[in-house]
Amino acid sequence: MNGCLFCEIVSGNRQAERVYEDEHCLAFRDVNPQAPVHLLIIPRVHLKSLNEIDAAPDGLLHHLMRAAHEIAKRLKLDQKGYRLVINTGPHGGQTVFHLHIHLLGGRPMHWPPG
Ligand code: AMP
Repeated sequence: MNGCLFCEIVSGNRQAERVYEDEHCLAFRDVNPQAPVHLLIIPRVHLKSLNEIDAAPDGLLHHLMRAAHEIAKRLKLDQKGYRLVINTGPHGGQTVFHLHIHLLGGRPMHWPPG
């Protein structure tokens, strides 16, 4: 979508440190990491947020979750654990309006989140 930061990363018009990609999604390092490992997993198709999931191709969310697990395994985060976060809308803390899953790991996480 025109003017979407993450669509520009998908198209290659904007640089990102990619760590994983397949036909439906890609993952890259967050520019402002909140943990030793902080990745963003995004679908190639533009969806503003999780609120648009009904318009997504069947199985997309499942695919994104499988990708998250695969990446966690490859980075050896699966044993000690990691956190997946989907900020949705202003109260959810979403700042980039292209659906993304934060994958955070490499340190113990705290609860409750801020
Ligand atoms: P959210 O606040 O959930 O919408 O998360 C958006 C995330 O995108 C933030 O953690 C930002 O640090 C990150 N971000 C913004 N621009 C870029 C970029 N060009 N490359 C990588 N991460 C980015």
